[in-house]
Amino acid sequence: MLKKYEKFITDFQKKIDKYFKEQSEYICCKEGCSACCEIGDYPFTQLEMMYLMQGFKSLPQNTQIEVRNNLMQIKNNRVSTHLFYKCPFLINNRCSVYQYRGITCRTFGLAYLCKDKTVKLPECVHEGLCYSNVYKDNYLSVEPIKESLNLLDITVSKLAKDYKLEFGPSRSLIDWFP
Ligand code: SF4
Ligand code: SF4
Repeated sequence: MLKKYEKFITDFQKKIDKYFKEQSEYICCKEGCSACCEIGDYPFTQLEMMYLMQGFKSLPQNTQIEVRNNLMQIKNNRVSTHLFYKCPFLINNRCSVYQYRGITCRTFGLAYLCKDKTVKLPECVHEGLCYSNVYKDNYLSVEPIKESLNLLDITVSKLAKDYKLEFGPSRSLIDWFP
């Protein structure tokens, strides 16, 4: 299943790269910018999590220890399952498992139309980053991407069906660790 997922995520990434190119006038992502990984709940399906852990196992021992320490700290300080947190895989403002990151991670920065016709904007629009040059008074003055990039919609997309993937349940990243 992971081999199939790897092919799927390569195709999915090509689609995302195209969207980033099309929307480049409104995107401010650059190396070292990590606000999108500083506070969130990071939904991951079981399949994405298995892939992420492959990346984790390939990390140097000292980075693995740092991630484990981050995890422990978040778990110990967490009082509610609804609380947002900093992703434990974020080390020195960089994703330590970048090649293995999840579907939602790959969509950070993009504005897209949800199935209920509402627009999902990147959180960093409120920090003067992505789309802030075309967003004023709760109004986006340009067309968002006309495809829902919500995780659950992606798991039932044509692309996912073509690869016959079984994603399994979805949970907040931290909840995959006992
Ligand atoms: S999505 Fe926003 S916060 Fe994340 S890297 Fe891009 S500009 Fe920075
Ligand atoms: S896995 Fe990487 S890209 Fe995804 S939230 Fe964590 S640090 Fe950010």
